[in-house]
Order: sequence, then structure tokens, then C-alpha cells
Amino acid sequence: MDISLELRNNLGEKLLVNEPLKDHTNFKIGGPAKYFFTAATADELVKAYQVARELKIPVIILGGGTNVLVSDQGFAGLVIKVKNQDYKIDGLKVVSDAGVNLGFLVQKTVAVGLSGFEPLVGVPGSVGGAVYGNAGLPGAVQGFIGDWVKAVTVFRENKVVRVPAAECQFAYRDSLFKYNSDIILSAEFELMAGDKAASQELVKKYISARQNQPYHLPSSGCVFTNVPIVDASEIKQKFPQEEKLEQFIARGQLPASWLIDQAGLKGKTMGGIQISGQHANYLVNVGGARAEDVVMMISYIKQQVRDKFGIQLQEEVRYLGF
Ligand SMILES: Cc1cc2nc3c(=O)[nH]c(=O)nc-3n(C[C@H](O)[C@H](O)[C@H](O)COP(=O)(O)OP(=O)(O)OC[C@H]3O[C@@H](n4cnc5c(N)ncnc54)[C@H](O)[C@@H]3O)c2cc1C
Repeated sequence: MDISLELRNNLGEKLLVNEPLKDHTNFKIGGPAKYFFTAATADELVKAYQVARELKIPVIILGGGTNVLVSDQGFAGLVIKVKNQDYKIDGLKVVSDAGVNLGFLVQKTVAVGLSGFEPLVGVPGSVGGAVYGNAGLPGAVQGFIGDWVKAVTVFRENKVVRVPAAECQFAYRDSLFKYNSDIILSAEFELMAGDKAASQELVKKYISARQNQPYHLPSSGCVFTNVPIVDASEIKQKFPQEEKLEQFIARGQLPASWLIDQAGLKGKTMGGIQISGQHANYLVNVGGARAEDVVMMISYIKQQVRDKFGIQLQEEVRYLGF
């Protein structure tokens, strides 16, 4: 069977072959996708997925590509980019396709006087990607997207299923969708009635708070998740001089950026990848970085933090095509 022909017959001229994934990731890293398809509707998304399953070729779902590291070898299957773009705001209820840009949706909700999404304003990527990873701002009150979800509509085992929030298992940078193969088609949210001017001020505050982050350089955002504090007294023994410790303990997390900074790693470079001097949890592509450079840097950081503090960092970034 000619897979390319079968895919083209089913998906039409929008099917791309050997598409460089570096053009679809915020890191600007990643080899070619053997096949690449942009789904502009939920039906197209489901159809592309079903065709790939029938042809027994592997599939990757890509949102905005802002939290992924794609291998230098690329991906020998079909990458489906989610770009369904409808959204509806009705009273406090917001229903959004997975492919809607999150920042755009935040601005739209603020513009009609709804409150709740303001802490999400600087989170790049799609609504689907945000739901998948429960994106948000640690420290902000109800600062995660999962805090506002009523239900998520997914494609699961050949059916469209509405998953109520209580079943989504939202936690810090976590959800059910990280552990199954659901494809997120859309999400329903319930926000609060707010004051438009106050929300706009909040949005400005959250945007300016990000000025210490290297938004101008290609990256995948924070590479590691913050570390849960299980035993505060043990942490106090490890870092007796640290002024910010009480603040971290109150939040229940040690910021990964702070740990990397304490390990003296800010500014370190390997190939084209650098630990940002602005924010140590960002690895930035300073020119021609390869996925291999990132993998080596991640491994080096983990080893240094483990050796110096006995703390194991975990990746937030998702590996695709490895
Ligand atoms: C400068 C910068 C700042 C950032 N700041 C933050 C921040 O403050 N808080 C935060 O939480 N994150 C932050 N991030 C990380 C990233 O923006 C978020 O994780 C974002 O929600 C990822 O969305 P995405 O659409 O780009 O997902 P992608 O990177 O495309 O995908 C991420 C994962 O989600 C899966 N996925 C995506 N869409 C779907 C779908 N429809 N169905 C099923 N699976 C899907 C993918 O397969 C992949 O495993 C930042 C990133 C950058 C570059």
C-alpha cells in the first residue's frame, strides 16, 4: 500500500510531506515530520487521526508547539497540528476549540468583563495544549486553566466524549490527558463576572511580571517543573541562609529556576543552547541549537542539582519523536 497516496486521497492537498518541525516549535528545533497536516476543524482532526490509525502510522498531536522538544530526526509518522478556531462566550460560560490561541481567548474574555483567565495572559500556545498540561501561574489565586474548566470534549477510542472537570485530574502541570491518548477537541469554562478595567490592570500586571523572562528568544518556556516541598525542615537544613525560603515553603514548592541558579549554572552554554541569564529554568536557542544539545543540557542540569542538593528535577517539556 502506498501510504503517501492513501493519506493524500483522504486528507487532500493540505497534507505536507517532510515538513520541518523546527518551523512549528517555539524552540525552533526539530527534524522533519514524514507527514504533516493542519486540522482546521474538529472533524478534520478526527478524520486525520482515524486515517493514520487505519494505515497503522504513528501520530503526534501538536498545539502551538511551545512546550515541546522535537527530536533532530523528526517524526516518521503523521503530525497533526490542531488549529480549530471557534469560540463562544455566553454569560459566564466560555466554550473554546482546542486550537484557539490562549492569549487571544484571555483578551476576549477580559474585553467582555469576565474575570479568571488574567494570570494566563502570558502563556503562549493553544487552549488544548494548556488543558493538556494544566498551564498557569503558580502563586496566582486560581491561576491554572484547570481551575476554570467545566468539561473537556475529547476524541477517545473512536467516540467523542465529554469529560467533566472532576474526571480531568488537574494538578500542578498535570492532567488525565498526559496519561491517555485522548485528543482534546474543545473545552468549556465557567468564569466570574468581573470589572473590565480591573481585569485589564491585572493583565498589564501579569505581562509586566514576565519581563524577567526571555520571551524574545526561542525556547520551550520552563524546562523543569517546580519541586514540591514535602519536608520543610529538611529544606531549611539544606538552605539555611536563604531569605526566600519561607515564601517557597508557604507556596509548597522550590522553584526549579532558583535551584538551577543556586547550582551556579546560569549562562552555561552547550552547542546552540544556553541556560538563560534572565531566568534559569529557560533553555534558550541562541543559534542553531539541536535537540541533542538540549538533551545533554537537561541531563547536565539534573546531575548538577542532584549532586549539589540531592534534589531530582523533572522535565515539564514534552519530548516528541524520541
Ligand atoms: C515563553 C514561554 C512562556 C511560558 N510560560 C508558561 C507559563 O507561565 N505557564 C505554563 O503553564 N506554561 C508556560 N509555557 C509553556 C507552554 O506555553 C504551555 O505549556 C502551553 O500550554 C503549551 O501549549 P501548546 O499549545 O503550545 O502545546 P504544545 O507545546 O504544542 O504541546 C504540549 C503537549 O500537549 C499535547 N497537546 C497539545 N494539544 C493537544 C490536544 N488538542 N489534544 C491532546 N494533546 C495535545 C502535545 O501532544 C504535547 O504533548 C511557556 C512557554 C514559553 C515558550
